[in-house]
Amino acid sequence: MIKFNIPPYVDGEEKYVNEAIASQKICGDGRFTKECQKMLEEHFHSSKIKLTTSGTTALEAACVLGDFGPGDEVILPSFTFSSTATAIVSTGATPVFVDIRPDTMNIDEEKIEAAITDKTKGIIAVHYAGVGCNMERICEIAKKHNLFLIEDAAQVVNSLYHGKYLGTFGDVGCYSFHETKNYSMGEGGAVSINNPSLSDRIDIIREKGTNRTLFINGQVDKYTWVDKGSSYLPSDILAAYLYPQLLIMDEMRDNRVATFDLYYELLTPLKEAGKIDLPTIPENCVHNGHMFYIKCKDINERKNLQTFLREHEIESTFHYIPLHSAPAGKKFGRFVGEDKYTTKESERLLRLPMYYRLAKEDVVKVCETIKEFYK
Ligand SMILES: *Cc1c(COP(=O)(O)O)cnc(C)c1O
Repeated sequence: MIKFNIPPYVDGEEKYVNEAIASQKICGDGRFTKECQKMLEEHFHSSKIKLTTSGTTALEAACVLGDFGPGDEVILPSFTFSSTATAIVSTGATPVFVDIRPDTMNIDEEKIEAAITDKTKGIIAVHYAGVGCNMERICEIAKKHNLFLIEDAAQVVNSLYHGKYLGTFGDVGCYSFHETKNYSMGEGGAVSINNPSLSDRIDIIREKGTNRTLFINGQVDKYTWVDKGSSYLPSDILAAYLYPQLLIMDEMRDNRVATFDLYYELLTPLKEAGKIDLPTIPENCVHNGHMFYIKCKDINERKNLQTFLREHEIESTFHYIPLHSAPAGKKFGRFVGEDKYTTKESERLLRLPMYYRLAKEDVVKVCETIKEFYK
């Protein structure tokens, strides 16, 4: 069976996990957490990155920093993971969904302004499949309307837009280190704090609403409850698992991008024959090979292809049911504008096996099998 995903694993996870255990400091903010944060800050040119327990809790912390609350509206694409919306809903604010662009499956930046009302407080830009949204335009809109901008950068760890690392454009960028992501600690995430005025507050929110970090740093003389918060600190054992992967961050990206390029090359004849569509990487984007998807004619053809691949021992998966058509999306949110592409394009999309060190022969086999299906 060619698996859809195998969690990232490089040499050294056991060694560092054992070191973390031996240090007898296995709660949050230990040696490996600090090392990982420092490496991420330096690599992405971010002034502050803090590990969290997941990409989901990174988004929750970002929504607290945005001061979202009841009566506020936050704009996001409908084609995304539930976490983007649950983070908004957990503050009492309303998610307002807009359509995506068919080429990148990212939010259509030109549909955002039509969804802005007096109540709009923020935007969450979701970068799909390792490829950045049009951040030039989205940053301009956020600035013009004074909106808090969050990047759901779960899938774009180590991707760039116009030479700048994704996750460092918005007020806050949110990364995921789930086992299905490019770099992993099983369950985990991080926030990049790009607006310096939020720098002290993230420490408080992340430390259960207390000023413990300021106290440790000697900036206040009492340690007490001062704000909203939760426990967003992952165990240092998990950070130790992530650590060796960050040491070879670019090599891991290059490996996935080579897999992406091979898929693209081998499937181009089917695209040219008009049978399938392939992903678009805009010129100004450097992607991280997070995902390789194809687009079939429609949902039925996709179903048949997926069955055919399974019969040939190849796993493939589709992706999100658009949130505005999901039960909770109907209950908590609303869609603004026309659903021109969200539903149609999501029904055509099929994700192929993709992980660090996926064997070339396996990529060839997947492509040959798809070609056989379309014969
Ligand atoms: C994976 C993912 C998340 C959630 O991250 P977790 O670490 O699994 O909580 C959020 N948004 C997007 C777009 C994702 O792909």
